[in-house]
Amino acid sequence: MSEVNPFESLQEQIDDAAAFVAVPDDALERLKRPERVLETTLSVELDDGSIETFRAFRSQFNGDRGPYKGGIRYHPQVSREEVTALSGWMVYKCAAVDIPYGGGKGGIAFDPSDYSDSEVERITRAFATELRPLIGEDRDVPAPDVNTGQREMNWLKDTYETLENTTAPGVVTGKAIESGGSEGRVEATGRSVAIVAREAFDYLGGDIADATVAVQGYGNAGSVAAELIAQQGGTVVAVSDSSGAVYDSSGIDTSAAKSFKRETGSVTGFEGASEELSNRELLTLDVDLLVPAALENAIDAAIARDVRADVIVEAANGPLTPDADDVLADREVAVFPDILANAGGVTVSYFEWVQNRQRFSWSLERVNDELETVITSAFDALIERHEATDAPTLRTAMYAVAIERVHRAATEAGTWP
Ligand code: NAD
Repeated sequence: MSEVNPFESLQEQIDDAAAFVAVPDDALERLKRPERVLETTLSVELDDGSIETFRAFRSQFNGDRGPYKGGIRYHPQVSREEVTALSGWMVYKCAAVDIPYGGGKGGIAFDPSDYSDSEVERITRAFATELRPLIGEDRDVPAPDVNTGQREMNWLKDTYETLENTTAPGVVTGKAIESGGSEGRVEATGRSVAIVAREAFDYLGGDIADATVAVQGYGNAGSVAAELIAQQGGTVVAVSDSSGAVYDSSGIDTSAAKSFKRETGSVTGFEGASEELSNRELLTLDVDLLVPAALENAIDAAIARDVRADVIVEAANGPLTPDADDVLADREVAVFPDILANAGGVTVSYFEWVQNRQRFSWSLERVNDELETVITSAFDALIERHEATDAPTLRTAMYAVAIERVHRAATEAGTWP
């Protein structure tokens, strides 16, 4: 993976879009930097009685449109720059799909697979204790991200509620249903990727049902996107995870591959595929649609020059380096940006939070219907802006829509003190 600083990528994306929005330079500067970043060291007792320290972060990038919102990631690569960039992308993602949230992100720099469940629980509760003064239903609402899920959200919520002596189910989203989670949340990110893929082919004069597809990263976002694209008739010919890639020209049974990965921990060795490929080979396959759904900076300029897909729908956050973006724009590959394509996760998180505030549960059908409306409306706003301006890429057009919305909220609030 490339060494690009993701925070610099974010700032470059904002600068690119700034040329197409009526935001003064001084106001724009404010939209490029986080409001605050917590950096803390957690001291946690391991099962053997020793104490280990872990670096942890929470960035609150911008709260002009509502409470800070964004996931918590557990990964050895977690850094201040990464968390800050991810929190900025959340601001513009929430604005792109027009939900009333600002942007935040957090993480702990460790690999949870090296620790027992009870150690991960203690690490999570230690982080929740540090986060307690910053978070809250109307302040900052964490959610799952890479290597975190319902379990970690339930621990965060329980720690917060215990320390605050209250019930506040909306303090985190992505919870288990029994703890106040929403129907459809687990599948929501993959679902928005599939909606955007369908709309993209339709807009470009094709049909997702005729498309061949490669998916990089077969975790939560990638596997659900693959399953739903296959349900729409698309042929998923290759999938990968950190262990490698598998390929079959006649199409992979996406659900069977998911079960295989759940049982064995990886997609490699899946009997339903005819060939194994390297991760790089997957990215440069001759397919109609490439869905990067692993981590940021997965595709750099060198890989971008070899990409043979006509369309990219970004399930991961920031999977292309800015240089890769430029190469793909020159090569006229249509890149549908992360802040739209993977916004299903935060959108259904928002629905979960609304349900928590209402003390009421929506049916899965209602959740999916409302999600469809939010994502297709944002898609239409993107296309309208792209056609109305000479913004060189879809990403720039989407950022222009989002930056304008954040700027309007900031202007209406005024500058104080
Ligand atoms: P996950 O941990 O469930 O899955 C990530 C997958 O990527 C794993 O299967 C891992 O093996 C694979 N991977 C890692 N490095 C790889 C490499 N070099 N090549 C191929 N595969 C590789 O995480 P997730 O929740 O699916 O998140 C994936 C991406 O989607 C992240 O960028 C995340 O920020 C973004 N995202 C997730 C959500 C969500 O709701 N889960 C929402 C919005 C965005």
